[in-house]
Amino acid sequence: MPDCPRCQQLVTADAVKCPHCSLVLRAYGHPGMPLHQAGEGFLCATCTYDADDTCTYPQRPHAKTCMLYHNAAQPLVEEFDAKPLQPKGWAGFRAWCRRHRGWLLLGGILVLSLGVALVR
Ligand code: SF4
Ligand SMILES: [Zn+2]
Repeated sequence: MPDCPRCQQLVTADAVKCPHCSLVLRAYGHPGMPLHQAGEGFLCATCTYDADDTCTYPQRPHAKTCMLYHNAAQPLVEEFDAKPLQPKGWAGFRAWCRRHRGWLLLGGILVLSLGVALVR
C-alpha cells in the first residue's frame, strides 16, 4: 500500500482521496488516473519528460501535481522475460516436424536406400 504524500498515512492503491487529510490522489475522481503530488520541491525536477525536454504542460517546470509525471530514475517500460510460447503434445510434435522436415526427409531417403540395398 502506498502512503499519502502529504500526511504519510497508508492509503489503498486505488484511493481517489486520502481518507486522513482529503488530499486528491486521482485525477478527475477516476481510480485509473493517478495524480502525482510533489512532496518537497517540484515534480518536474525528477521527471523523465522534463529531462528529455518533451513536456509541453504549462505548469512545467513548477508542477506540484501532474497526471503524466514519471520518475526519471525508473525505466519507462518495465523489462520482462518474454519467452515464445511452445506448443505442447501433438501440436508440438507437428511443429517440431515442420522445423526439421529437411532432416526428416534426408533420414527417410537414407532408410529407404538401406532397405533397397539389403533386399538385393
Ligand atoms: S509531465 Fe508533469 S511533472 Fe513531468 S515535466 Fe511535465 S509538468 Fe512536470
Ligand atoms: Zn493524507
